[in-house]
Amino acid sequence: MEVDASFFDSFPFSEISEAEGIVDVLLDKLGNGLDCHVSFRGHCQLPCDRCLSNLQLPLTFQERLIVHLGGQTDLENDIWTLGPELHELNLAQPVFEWIHLCLPFRRVHPSDDDCDPTMVDHLIQSSRKDEKGNDDGNDAIDPRWNALKDLK
Ligand SMILES: [Zn+2]
Repeated sequence: MEVDASFFDSFPFSEISEAEGIVDVLLDKLGNGLDCHVSFRGHCQLPCDRCLSNLQLPLTFQERLIVHLGGQTDLENDIWTLGPELHELNLAQPVFEWIHLCLPFRRVHPSDDDCDPTMVDHLIQSSRKDEKGNDDGNDAIDPRWNALKDLK
């Protein structure tokens, strides 16, 4: 199955809006159920944590879902049960969750050189200003604290 931007359109609260990839699903019959091996290979675009310009991240996962057939439908837990009223296995929700789980915690361009140079210059300038500002501010006491001196 293909995953593209239209897949993420059906999940309005996704932080991913641009992604492409292929989901492979291998179904093994397992007694009265199915053993689903789901793998994904693709990439998505997110803003770089450092320079905010677009960053393409490779995404891959391999997951497994056990599905029992018959009984009361339960699609909430790790092991699903498909009741007799369901004739279709819809993996969109777990695929959506697995893609988000494989997003790296820190999303930055692999090297500083790949970041947007204008933004990097701006960040360097503003961090220098911050350092200077802190040095100046260390000796002076914020006047808002003076009111606390009167408290007993
Ligand atoms: Zn960057």
